[in-house]
Amino acid sequence: MSKFAQFGFISRQFGNNQLRAPLKQINAALTINVATGHGWDIWDGASEVVGISDNNQSALFAVLCLLTTLLLSACATPHKVGSQDDGHRVGFTGKAHHIGDRFRNAGDYTPSPGGSWLKLAFDPYRKHVTVPKGHVLSHEAAVTGLRKSATKSASITWIGHSTYLMRIGKRWLLTDPVFSSRVSPVPPFGPKRLVRPGLKLQDLPKIDVIILSHNHFDHTDFPSLIQLAKLNPNAQVFVPLKNAGVVKRAGFRNVTEADWFETHRFAGMRFTAVPAVHSSRRGIADLNKSLWSGWSILAASRKIYFAGDTAKGSFIHEIRRRLGAHELALMPIGAYSPPELEKGHHATPEESVEMARQLGARHIIPTHWGTFALSKEPISEQRNRFIHASKHHPKPHVLRIGQTIAMPH
Ligand SMILES: [Zn+2]
Ligand SMILES: [Zn+2]
Repeated sequence: MSKFAQFGFISRQFGNNQLRAPLKQINAALTINVATGHGWDIWDGASEVVGISDNNQSALFAVLCLLTTLLLSACATPHKVGSQDDGHRVGFTGKAHHIGDRFRNAGDYTPSPGGSWLKLAFDPYRKHVTVPKGHVLSHEAAVTGLRKSATKSASITWIGHSTYLMRIGKRWLLTDPVFSSRVSPVPPFGPKRLVRPGLKLQDLPKIDVIILSHNHFDHTDFPSLIQLAKLNPNAQVFVPLKNAGVVKRAGFRNVTEADWFETHRFAGMRFTAVPAVHSSRRGIADLNKSLWSGWSILAASRKIYFAGDTAKGSFIHEIRRRLGAHELALMPIGAYSPPELEKGHHATPEESVEMARQLGARHIIPTHWGTFALSKEPISEQRNRFIHASKHHPKPHVLRIGQTIAMPH
């Protein structure tokens, strides 16, 4: 189904007063691109920085989609999940974060289920956000930097947003790989990349392991997964519970799901899914039907924490209690403004720094910033608040997009 035929389908639902059509059917129309990969483009590398301009047609479409999605979502939004209104606090033990066929946060409050997902249908903040000078390396410098890092025992490269390429010994790992030009449930609309990925998919070495944090479109990018599966059919992919389906549909054979605090071994490394305060959603009726998580990686005596997408929460103490201090923490620092919309989904830079301290980290690398305009705050503010908050404890390492550094130890 083409993009406009897809929209036509939804329009017809309005025109014919068929808003009570089965949610399954509507969900299929909205998410058809998830299955086919149509509607997104892998970034073509045509320029360093995306021009920031208004597009009236896009804006009109976005407004219509907003009305459609809000209306349908209102019909479909289930009960408040993981809320303090439950009358009790949910702990970290056993399966307390499982509730029927859905999941909920543990010990923390989720104030606005689905709000974060709806935002991905639009691109309201892009015209307000500018890309600071020097934020992204030239493609040539990025490729050279990656090649030169071969002399180090371990390295880390920022590709953009929450996508980091790590080498530990001879193994290559990728986190939440996103190379598409947009991240959205309603392509060709939704948040557009402000800057190109630091490396192209074809520049990557053979990937051994991919870890995914949850199914939001800015973390689980189906077109990128399809391309990665073609290039790395034997890669091992670790995902939180109920996320294997989309990864297998992308073409990966070796996909392992994990519940919180469940550990899997691969090639001498240990991967443990750990709690996060967030939510999940790709379609209209699947709110919190798949789990979200961070990851603790133990490899070659290095202990690395990848937080995924999270708000501040007491779970960080539980991770330290069970798995010990982590020397390096990759922490999300963006998408915190306006707080009335983002609190409960995304930590501020100050909160992420505090959590890294609580985890005993000596080094911190920021994620989830400087790539898409998912929120109101400027890129320079994300960076400045993060550096100011860290006060060299933990030591902050702010990479330019495309930059490779020796992995802090
Ligand atoms: Zn998310
Ligand atoms: Zn995100």
